[in-house]
Amino acid sequence: MKKIYNILHSFLLLDFLKGMWLTLKYFFRAKVTLNYPHEKGPLSPRFRGEHALRRYANGEERCIACKLCEAICPAQAITIEAEPREDGSRRTTKYDIDMTKCIYCGFCQEACPVDAIVEGPNFEYATETREELMYDKAKLLANGDKWEKEIAQNLEKDAPYR
Ligand code: SF4
Ligand code: SF4
Repeated sequence: MKKIYNILHSFLLLDFLKGMWLTLKYFFRAKVTLNYPHEKGPLSPRFRGEHALRRYANGEERCIACKLCEAICPAQAITIEAEPREDGSRRTTKYDIDMTKCIYCGFCQEACPVDAIVEGPNFEYATETREELMYDKAKLLANGDKWEKEIAQNLEKDAPYR
């Protein structure tokens, strides 16, 4: 009986030493975890986050209401209404995205001929209600204004591969 006890004891001791060795090995290595939200990992320029509608530098909306994004959206998340302006240009009067339907495929961005609708780098837009995820044109344009610098940089980085 004592012999079995000694064998078991030596196995436990061995496991303990192995565990300690593993702990020591990782103790001096660089940390692989991030202290989110104070630290954030790098994002690809192709990251498909929260949607935004962009403007030109003079403030004019890029969107020409061609409705290609609405047509291509596999989730039917986009709803657009449009009419001509007094100057003859065509602009949307309504641009809604139901973010609860969106599957973040990026097709809307790819279809857009003027880089108006994009999926920006923002991934921190969790809400407490579904209603807050029904984006309208004002919200999408505000997103565009807020993230334009990052969005433009990402599009430029990705341009050689398109
Ligand atoms: S990312 Fe895809 S699913 Fe979402 S709005 Fe664009 S086309 Fe629709
Ligand atoms: S966002 Fe782009 S694809 Fe969609 S209606 Fe406007 S111009 Fe057309």
